[in-house]
Amino acid sequence: MALTGLDIYKLLPKTNCKECGNPTCLAFAMALAASKTSLDKCPHVSEQAKETLGGASAPPIKLVKVGKSGYERELGDEVVLFRHDKAFFHPTCIAIEISDMLSGTELEAKVEKVNALAFERVGQTVSIDMIAVRNDSGNPDTFANAVKAVADKTCFATVLISEDPAAMEKGLAVIGSSKPLIYAATEANYEKIVELAKKYDCPLAVKGEGLDATAALVEKVAASYKELVIDIGTRNLSQALAEMTQIRRLAIKKRFRPLGYPVIAFTASDNPRDEIMEASVYITKYASVVVMKADEKSQILPLTALRMNIYTDPQKPSQVEPKVYQIGAVTKDSPVYVTTNFSLTYYTVEGEISGSKIPSYIIACPTDGTSVLTAWAAGKFNGEKIAEFLKACGIEDMVSHRNIVIPGYVAVIKGALEEKSGWKVTVGPAEASGLPAFAKAHFA
Ligand code: SF4
Repeated sequence: MALTGLDIYKLLPKTNCKECGNPTCLAFAMALAASKTSLDKCPHVSEQAKETLGGASAPPIKLVKVGKSGYERELGDEVVLFRHDKAFFHPTCIAIEISDMLSGTELEAKVEKVNALAFERVGQTVSIDMIAVRNDSGNPDTFANAVKAVADKTCFATVLISEDPAAMEKGLAVIGSSKPLIYAATEANYEKIVELAKKYDCPLAVKGEGLDATAALVEKVAASYKELVIDIGTRNLSQALAEMTQIRRLAIKKRFRPLGYPVIAFTASDNPRDEIMEASVYITKYASVVVMKADEKSQILPLTALRMNIYTDPQKPSQVEPKVYQIGAVTKDSPVYVTTNFSLTYYTVEGEISGSKIPSYIIACPTDGTSVLTAWAAGKFNGEKIAEFLKACGIEDMVSHRNIVIPGYVAVIKGALEEKSGWKVTVGPAEASGLPAFAKAHFA
């Protein structure tokens, strides 16, 4: 049972010294109960209190690490149900499944294809995270050979899928030092599989059949090994969504320890479009790993974009550095566009201007990472502010003209910007997609 803020408060020094960053011990206790701080922030807690509070201050969902150093992925350690309450911290890992039934050349080609599933989006490189090798053959040696062939060709973390302890042991003998995720301990095999997890010090997935049976099995396994990931065994999408939501709720709101572990989910559909929809649901609520068969860029890109949107901090808009960006081989005569420093806005504009093939300058104004209309409504992107930044950013020394293009959505600031800056203002298209045609019409 979780401790309340008052329970915690009774165990604190009650000196209100503020060293933890909170104004009072009570405020610290309430923050600790809500998982918004950690016990180590208070340097004055007694050893006895630490022991009692250890459980209350532990994260409601355990942090579990998979993969070798440098390519490691962290799962779990989330503290809220909804991202707008704070943020989600450890993005869902996308794992692509490979069968050990593939021939040597097929397997090699498949790993190469999966390795290439990486993309540039809003200035960041995003990719899949794991390769899952499934023991479809039922043969331990075939499984070990496939694991070795995959390990030789990729740096991604690995999931070893087999419920046969003999096959798992052979697979771990190949790759155990790289900390693969062992999948899975079941009611039938958990004693042997837990021994393997301990021997190789690897994270272990526990597979149950529904919520109650999974919680009961996790309790048995966790008695001797705690680096766990949960699979509820449900492959029906709506039922899995309901159960995974219950797991998150029970772990965070009730501190129900048997379900306080990251969750792994598997897509079930053979239809590529449906499989992406399943994975989207699991990324949204609340899988830490989603294992899928899809391996086309057109399938993975939307999932990585969705994941990026969900796992950004809603209180910190994603932004680029406010400055002048040069697109292509610019000269003193190149056109100048102005936009905000919201990442998505900037990179959308940048992509379209690059596509126009006309070297240009883009001025990303400091708007605290807000989009054009939001920044304008907040008074951060008006004639006065842009004129100030035109002076500060150095563009006046970079070009020999004084012409600037503003987004069509803020055409209303044209007069004020001309008056404050002395620059001639041209109103560009409202949508960035109109920029290539606009550029060709005005600057080609
Ligand atoms: S550091 Fe500890 S003793 Fe000081 S105010 Fe915070 S909780 Fe209280």
